[in-house]
Amino acid sequence: MIKEPVKNIETLSSKIYRKEFVSTFDGDESGDLRPRQTPGVLYSKALPTPVKSPELLAWSDELAKELGIKNQTEKMDVDILGGNLITPSMYPYAACYAGHQFGQWAGQLGDGRAITLGEWEAPDGRSWEMQLKGAGPTAYSRRADGRAVLRSSLREYLMSEAMYHLRVPTTRALSLVTTGDSVLRDMFYDGHPEYEPGAIVMRVSPSFLRFGNFEVLAARNELSNLRKLVDWTIQKYYPHIDGNDKIIAWFKEVVEKTAGLMVEWLRVGFVHGVMNTDNMSILGLTIDYGPYSFIDDYDPNFTPNTTDLPGRRYAFGRQPSIAHWNLGCFAGAIAPLLDDTERLSAELEGYTDIFLQKYYAMMGNKLGLDKVNKEDISLINEFEKTLATIKPDMTIFYQSLTELDMDKGDTKDRIASHFNHSFYKELQPGHVEALFSLMEMYITRIKRNTCNREESLNRMQQNNPRFILRNYLLHQASEDLEKGDDTLLTKLQHAMKEPYSKKYDEFFTKRPDWATQKAGCSMLSCSS
Ligand code: AMP
Ligand code: MG
Repeated sequence: MIKEPVKNIETLSSKIYRKEFVSTFDGDESGDLRPRQTPGVLYSKALPTPVKSPELLAWSDELAKELGIKNQTEKMDVDILGGNLITPSMYPYAACYAGHQFGQWAGQLGDGRAITLGEWEAPDGRSWEMQLKGAGPTAYSRRADGRAVLRSSLREYLMSEAMYHLRVPTTRALSLVTTGDSVLRDMFYDGHPEYEPGAIVMRVSPSFLRFGNFEVLAARNELSNLRKLVDWTIQKYYPHIDGNDKIIAWFKEVVEKTAGLMVEWLRVGFVHGVMNTDNMSILGLTIDYGPYSFIDDYDPNFTPNTTDLPGRRYAFGRQPSIAHWNLGCFAGAIAPLLDDTERLSAELEGYTDIFLQKYYAMMGNKLGLDKVNKEDISLINEFEKTLATIKPDMTIFYQSLTELDMDKGDTKDRIASHFNHSFYKELQPGHVEALFSLMEMYITRIKRNTCNREESLNRMQQNNPRFILRNYLLHQASEDLEKGDDTLLTKLQHAMKEPYSKKYDEFFTKRPDWATQKAGCSMLSCSS
């Protein structure tokens, strides 16, 4: 039998890694892992600290294929994924960045538990940063241990890939390994730390650069480093931008990408939970999966992060305006490179219009409108207002909307019973009224579509996920894993690859009652 030639197949251990970032910028090459300030440099060398017995728990076939990596991972590859093996072409480092956390300047932060091993050139020529999260201390670990626990690593691994399949811009994850070591964590911040299994995720992204990488250089007044980083970022990641005004043109694109990301989060009902400027990607990707959540019952005020509770700064509905605020910090960081900052301010101000334009277009798709006219804006606003009042399960509600029969005579009872399974509480009469009048408006509008019903439904099905990784499912999967049972993990891995299909309807249910108050099932702490 003639075998087809095997193309573009490499392994993690045989690959020659590129090191463009470290060879372009100044770094602290000492390899010293003691926490410290590192003025004058953009990174510090940091070798991963070996672990007891790395074991592969999960692996993304789709990402491996994109990178041109051979699928079966051998022991040497698992050793790399666990931080126990560094090959000669790698240069492991932690990046130096700063940030605004919860609205306050926090100074230098940096990769406290993320170590980039090198850059991977894929068969299509694209370059990817390969980064271990949880591989031990770096110069930026401050008082923490540089490690990550299984429950949070599982969340980062699964959600990165789930977002990719939802078509939401995101960093990726190649693997999840357990380390065989335990990690001490005070999950509830109540003075009762416990040992938990440790794990490491191999994260992959064209770049992990954040707003904070630029902020730290501006704050330190390292203007030549700042200019060099800006020029390099534009040339490498925004190569179509050129000319005298390139910083402004670049900022405008970052604004557009960030606005687009916020719209995508709203589309699928994602709440990041920690939108600090050190968690804002320069490429408009979802980055740093921590105490995130999908929205179950629709509530713009919902924050999944217990640390965010007093102010709800990072609540679902606030994300677009927080992104704007964060872009303001970013603009402030690059402003010293410009003689005239008026245009920068103008581009920053343009965020709201860009966001709204993208937002209305997205809502038009969610609702199955042929196009969004001026008059449709009040319908969209009405949806938002009514959903926030009657609080249905967001995912189930939009699925039910695709199943609404437009030709039957409308009665309040029919509408209430059609959407009944999306509610967590019995509908009050006033709420039935509100839902009914919203549906009257909606059906009238759908009947004015110039496209046929099939096209409209198709648009809705493409834009309304049916399967989402709810926090209680992730919680159950990690509890099972800790007992050695990976059945649910495997099922979730299949389901998240087809979030718009009905194939995995065993998960098409509301968050169960038991999960409403249970830690980790609705809200989470940052302890990870
Ligand atoms: P986050 O809120 O996860 O974005 O983290 C904020 C900062 O804390 C970043 O600089 C992280 O690298 C750092 N950090 C979080 N957890 C740890 C840990 N276990 N060890 C070291 N640094 C950490
Ligand atoms: Mg972070």
